[in-house]
Amino acid sequence: MADQECIFCAMVAGKIQPAAKVYEDGEYLAFLDINPRNPGHTIVITKKHYEVVLDMPEKEAGKLFELVKRLSVSVKNGTQADGISILQNNYRASGQAVPHIHFHVIPRFNSEGPPALETILSVKRMPEDVLKKIAESIKSGGGSEPKHEKPKETKKKDLFEDF
Ligand code: AMP
Ligand code: ZN
Repeated sequence: MADQECIFCAMVAGKIQPAAKVYEDGEYLAFLDINPRNPGHTIVITKKHYEVVLDMPEKEAGKLFELVKRLSVSVKNGTQADGISILQNNYRASGQAVPHIHFHVIPRFNSEGPPALETILSVKRMPEDVLKKIAESIKSGGGSEPKHEKPKETKKKDLFEDF
């Protein structure tokens, strides 16, 4: 169901127009980002409103990624990019500004500065016992179609509070 306040739902409903549409079918829409990080920076959305990918049934998430993969090839060919970054943010802590599921497909060029994740998140050196505890915690939060909770404003991560 469309979210009344959601800018991407408004786009799907035709209430606002994306500046440059790249792809559309019955279920998906892709358009150029209005604040492109590089020429050809494309946003891929589902027409159905989900806030985050964690809320999507796994099959739907898989189908969305098939399209993202296909459009990544089009974006790479269309911009003659040297590489492609596929980025997907979930919740404010990750940098998500628009609370409607979307993937960023961003052309990358060898002429750019350092392309690594290191430019956004610094490396944290962690002892092996902490890594093992975190891995166990992740494994116990899995299963098929695992459920998750919406994040609270501040939640102390006592599992790795020192990092
Ligand atoms: P995120 O931070 O992952 O939520 O990214 C949201 C992206 O949507 C940003 O890069 C915005 O520039 C982009 N965006 C927001 N509104 C529009 C719009 N009307 N048309 C195209 N891109 C948009
Ligand atoms: Zn929406």
